[in-house]
Amino acid sequence: MRLLVVEDDAELRGRLKQSLARAGFAVDAVDNGVEAGYLGTQEPYDAVVLDLGLPGRSGLEVLRQWRNDANTVPVVILTARDSWQEKVEGFKAGADDYLAKPFHMEELMARLNAVIRRRHAQPGGELRSGDLVLDEERQTVRRGTHNLELTATEFRLLRYFMLHPGRTLSKSVLTEHVYEYDADKDSNVIEAYVRRLRQKLGRDVIRTRRGQGYVFEGIR
Ligand code: CA
Repeated sequence: MRLLVVEDDAELRGRLKQSLARAGFAVDAVDNGVEAGYLGTQEPYDAVVLDLGLPGRSGLEVLRQWRNDANTVPVVILTARDSWQEKVEGFKAGADDYLAKPFHMEELMARLNAVIRRRHAQPGGELRSGDLVLDEERQTVRRGTHNLELTATEFRLLRYFMLHPGRTLSKSVLTEHVYEYDADKDSNVIEAYVRRLRQKLGRDVIRTRRGQGYVFEGIR
């Protein structure tokens, strides 16, 4: 899962990037509305954390532009404490959820995971396929009672697969959702990660569609 964080407060932006990265997300972070508007249009984010008071363009303007362009990326807005007007304006502009400052990182994680799951019509809690269970909160993966050791990238890749079961996902789509903007996006690396996931989960869990990409078949 790849996130865009838009926050002009440098200290908070740094903390957001660090906490979200630790929670298993690839994170791009920017400090103004102009760049946010551009990146949100160019890059296929899985969710956005959007502060409303921003230099350049306000968060509300950016959000309205995305929604006008039929960009339905899930957006959690950050509002000033006690400002019900900001919340109302945010929802009118197309926000999926809000969080009033100051907030706890745990609450932001929970809300982000909820809007992402809602987008993929997955029930809350954990991602499951047969006896394979991916716990987003604790960032653990287990098969039955056996815990699997996954690297951060393997975890992001598996989470993306589990949110899109049965769908053919091209290497470039997987690359876009697993890496950050400035990362070296070599789509051949995805092959190596898929190979490692297969070693850990079993060969048949991820099928290759020659020339098209990969399909998460799930566990039967
Ligand atoms: Ca601000």
